Amino acid sequence: MRFCFWGVFVRIAVDEISAAGLDKDYCIEAAKLFENADPVGDTGFQFVSPVQFHLHLQRADEMIRLCGDVAYTLAENCGRCLDRFEEQISSRFELSFSTQEPEGVDQEEIELEAIQLEQVSFSGDQLDLRDCLREQVSLSLPIRPLCRPECRGLCPECGGNLNHVVCGCEKKVFNNKFDALKALKKK
Ligand SMILES: [Zn+2]
Ligand SMILES: [Zn+2]
Repeated sequence: MRFCFWGVFVRIAVDEISAAGLDKDYCIEAAKLFENADPVGDTGFQFVSPVQFHLHLQRADEMIRLCGDVAYTLAENCGRCLDRFEEQISSRFELSFSTQEPEGVDQEEIELEAIQLEQVSFSGDQLDLRDCLREQVSLSLPIRPLCRPECRGLCPECGGNLNHVVCGCEKKVFNNKFDALKALKKK
């Protein structure tokens, strides 16, 4: 896929969006996507592929509906066994953009309503999608990375990675618990 010039192409002229819909594909380096903002901090996440977006925009009166898909590959540390692994992330999102400002309600209420409806207001003849797309990538980052659903984690006794090693600790811990129970029963 061709790389786009972030900042130019992600501004869409509203006139381009018809009722029939407009499809857009973007492929952006994560560093460019986030410019100076760092969405990953010290989480250990690293984007190992460009971020790809497929967007479908549709217009209905004063509203523009956006259905999007975002996909990329992320390197991350497993929260259970601490191994480094790569994961294909893909996520779907829907947003609405409104050119109309609701009237007669106080500002806080408007903002709350907009958040609930995932509605973004805009003015002018261009829709600038940069903030929304950044936000969608941030939202798609894993909350608790797992190298695989059945990851066995680290042994609490010796610290060995139980996906790779078979240590004798598990049995010992079990026996200790069993002995403790026996001792309790004797009392
Ligand atoms: Zn793991
Ligand atoms: Zn062990």
